[in-house]
Amino acid sequence: MDDQKMFEEVASKFMSLYRRNVVQKFKRASDSGRFQALLQTNEFARNVFGLSQSLCQRYDVDSWQAQVLDTVDLETIYANVEAMEGSEDDYVDRLVKELLRYFKNDFFKWCNRPDCECCGCPGDQMVPVGNESPNSQERQFDCGGVEIYACPKCRQRTRFPRYNDPVKLLETRKGRCGEWCNLFMLFLKSFGIESRYIWNREDHVWCEIYSPHLKRWVHVDSCEQSFDEPHIYSVNWNKKMSYTIAFGTTTAIDVSKNYIVQNQLPRDLISEDDLSFLLRMITKRLRTALSDDDIYKLACLDEQENMMNAGVASSNDSKATGTVSAPQGRQSGSAAWKKSRGEDG
Ligand SMILES: [Zn+2]
Repeated sequence: MDDQKMFEEVASKFMSLYRRNVVQKFKRASDSGRFQALLQTNEFARNVFGLSQSLCQRYDVDSWQAQVLDTVDLETIYANVEAMEGSEDDYVDRLVKELLRYFKNDFFKWCNRPDCECCGCPGDQMVPVGNESPNSQERQFDCGGVEIYACPKCRQRTRFPRYNDPVKLLETRKGRCGEWCNLFMLFLKSFGIESRYIWNREDHVWCEIYSPHLKRWVHVDSCEQSFDEPHIYSVNWNKKMSYTIAFGTTTAIDVSKNYIVQNQLPRDLISEDDLSFLLRMITKRLRTALSDDDIYKLACLDEQENMMNAGVASSNDSKATGTVSAPQGRQSGSAAWKKSRGEDG
């Protein structure tokens, strides 16, 4: 046997041992006692667990995705992607950029206050008069609450139901960051783009996509038509933040360090050790039904992401001012609304 062949044999044996080790380590009996105790004693842990249950696999619904593809203007979208400069390698990035453009310019509307349903009086003149519970019709579409607005001209009231059902949003096509992120997540999934939902404790949500070209998760915010500008919140908006967590089909992971480079609020709702334990447990549950092959691949991706996050944490000081190209302050929402949220830069 020549040296080359022997080396290959040893390398392949080593790899299969390593692989078995990674899979076994992942499958090893989990500390469910600690997990249950944590959920019982810590409210933040309960919230995060609840979010993971509702968000992680929410958009993996074939019929929903089919409805998106039936509704959008595929011809325009694909023509614009083709017209963009680039190669086959960055196809996913180009597609996502076009979806951001299409969603914001052609499809969805920001809504601070709805226009009057009776006389068409513009929303900025409507007067908020409180909230109501959803009626039976609104309740069918996972409606969290209804804002009521009075028209100064015709005196009629207009309801603004805050729908959580993304398919209903295909029809209403308006909302604030919650509705934008909700439907845009379904858009990304419908086009076969690996994506995850990003939740920030200080009342904002956005998405991330996995870019095969850049070989990492990339920040995407549909309200801002923003691609790979993770610092816009803490730097441009001057937003104060504590926790930012990614919820994907097979992963829950703390991504705070990628987004919070200044204005860090205290992280005192759970110990750091308990938080990483909690997210590991959630991730484990999401992967229980997967094959050994998939478990191994995902474990390698986790390792890669952890290494990158460690790198980000140590280089944030130099990156904080260099990578942001957007103008100061938030783009979506009225000036008064942004000011009230402390997001006006
Ligand atoms: Zn009116």
